[in-house]
Amino acid sequence: MEKYIKVYQETRKKIKAYEYFTWLMSWDMETEAPKGSHAYRTRQYEVMAQEIYTIQTNLEYMEAIDYLMEHLCELSDQALAIEIKSVYKGLRIIKKVPKDEYIAYQVLISEGPIIWAQAKENNDFKAFQPLLEKIVLANRKLVQYLKTDDLKGYDILLDFYEEGLTTKEYDHFFETLKTHLVPFVKEVTKKSKKRFKKALSTSIFPIEGQKAFAHYLLDVAQYNLDHGVLKESAHPFTSGVSSQDVRITTKYHEDNVLSSIFSVLHEMGHGLYEQQNDPKYDGTFLSGGTSMGIHESQSRMYENMIGRSRVFWSKHYPKLVETFPKQLKDVSLDEFYRYTNRVERSLIRIEADELTYSLHIMVRYEIEKQLINGRLRVEELPKRWNQLMRKYLGIVPKSDKEGVLQDIHWSFGAIGYFPTYALGSAYAAQIYHKMNQEISVEDAILNDFGLINAWLKERVHQFGKTKTPQEILMIASKEPFNPQYYVDYLISKFQ
Ligand code: ZN
Repeated sequence: MEKYIKVYQETRKKIKAYEYFTWLMSWDMETEAPKGSHAYRTRQYEVMAQEIYTIQTNLEYMEAIDYLMEHLCELSDQALAIEIKSVYKGLRIIKKVPKDEYIAYQVLISEGPIIWAQAKENNDFKAFQPLLEKIVLANRKLVQYLKTDDLKGYDILLDFYEEGLTTKEYDHFFETLKTHLVPFVKEVTKKSKKRFKKALSTSIFPIEGQKAFAHYLLDVAQYNLDHGVLKESAHPFTSGVSSQDVRITTKYHEDNVLSSIFSVLHEMGHGLYEQQNDPKYDGTFLSGGTSMGIHESQSRMYENMIGRSRVFWSKHYPKLVETFPKQLKDVSLDEFYRYTNRVERSLIRIEADELTYSLHIMVRYEIEKQLINGRLRVEELPKRWNQLMRKYLGIVPKSDKEGVLQDIHWSFGAIGYFPTYALGSAYAAQIYHKMNQEISVEDAILNDFGLINAWLKERVHQFGKTKTPQEILMIASKEPFNPQYYVDYLISKFQ
């Protein structure tokens, strides 16, 4: 036993070190590296990726994992047992998919985003179609290789991103949204459009002021800058390598002051989750967030439930006005609040408001399910997309660029990922509801933001990946997933 544990831990140490350097490379690529460095870096990256693959598939290491998996109940270290289970599960792809197919697929999806970007720019779905057909086919084969008694088809892909959630749970979730939100959105958006002062949509907000305000927000939420940093990138993201180093980015737009404010709040939610992991998981495969859905619940809670609340802006709007006195001199707190929470039926997911967002995800969920089950052909996608947009949002895109081609995800093989975005918001509503029963969130926002972080650390963040998403929900909210909290939250906020 000791021998196998030692092999496992020594190999883990190596993989972690290699992963650290590839992590740094990708951080550098997204934030600092000049455009022309792409090809040279890719060559170095390939060497690193191959090294990691070699170490991961080392026979001694695989044997150690197999042995420890068979003797799980003899392991005294519970965290190690959980880790072995998850690493074992992760290795099933390497074990079951023929190596040639595995590598060919990696090459396919590494080129995918470039082909997608070109097709999107030219509004040319036909140029994307052959690639997507190959990706869908590969995923349909993959689920054949990986099927078990419990999981098959699309459920296998869903489980990659959100362990324990299958079409059964997602169908129930999306049915709840369909029943309550689709008619509600139609009703809310029918009411005559509210007008807002032009100052918010037409003013120029100099970047320097936006940066200062972003740092003010880091300070408000007590984001730890000894173990984190805020930089700029084309699309905002969070990237962590352990609780000691969790980095976030934003993008400033001179003509849109809200964009960076809410992206900073969103990424801080992700970042605080990983910063508040128990440091004993650093250097293991248990650090980070337990699933995409739980991760997204933390970011959406900071962005929407806290960041778009009236009480938050009653406290911090004066600072924003102080930062941009000319632009905001005639904009009242009430008007600012209503502007940040305006609702409209729109075409683009990433620009959608809090209320309509999950309806965009519903469109993608139904399409993915049908693609993987073989009930929909890739060539039929644009038509089906438009049908579903009409059905759920009541609008139809004029071009595929604003429709089926808008998202990058499918081009790098991420099928089964989208549903976690909607799920994250729903988890957030459920967790927030419980938190608000135990501490007054409004008081915390006004007087001591640290209370919110402390509650989330105790109920969600500290565990890293040692609990499943459903276990986290039980610990945090004391009940299993219940999408009604999300529906109730949205209806009471937007009615
Ligand atoms: Zn996010």
